Amino acid sequence: MRCSPNVEIKIGVLALQGDVSEHICAFERALDNIDNINNFEVFGLKKPEEIESCNAIAIPGGESTTISRLIDKNNLRSPIKAFKGGIFATCAGMVLSASKIIDDNDVKPLSIMDLEVKRNAFGRQKDSFESTIAIHGLAEPFRAIFIRAPVAVSAGPGVRIIGRLESGIVAAVQDKNMALAFHPELGNDLRLHELFIKNLLNF
Ligand code: GLN
Repeated sequence: MRCSPNVEIKIGVLALQGDVSEHICAFERALDNIDNINNFEVFGLKKPEEIESCNAIAIPGGESTTISRLIDKNNLRSPIKAFKGGIFATCAGMVLSASKIIDDNDVKPLSIMDLEVKRNAFGRQKDSFESTIAIHGLAEPFRAIFIRAPVAVSAGPGVRIIGRLESGIVAAVQDKNMALAFHPELGNDLRLHELFIKNLLNF
């Protein structure tokens, strides 16, 4: 964790389950890359009272059923839903951010994004893959890592679809929020973290 006396942007990575440290590290590196940000803090968020001071929250990849259960156990559902900053959601995070999940009653979605999501849309763990995809807002394609990934099969009118595969929507933006079916936090390419932060701060 990086702390500084004059924090100008604070990002809480939901630290209940999943690839939390990878997200913290990726955001720290992305924030370091952006001019005009002098001070920042990225930390593992576990308690409802930690949400208010955040500019953004990340919901990591992992197991959405487990994260969903732990969100309720830790009284985080209402404060996350009421949060006015940006939410960056990857893979299991995208499942949780949805307004509707198809053929699944185990995950209680947070309705952060107007997306209808299908879990494990590409099959099981062994069907994980990498693909180079075009993303609106990025000059060059992005090498994306998909691990038991979801897709969104439909999006509401307020959603900007920024990336697709044949099976469905894999990257989307709604207001300050971004949902990705893949794992940018696992690679070295931080352009999507940077895009999220720039959109959040109107840079
Ligand atoms: N398939 C997982 C789920 O729906 C997500 C996998 C991931 O985050 N890599 O919970």
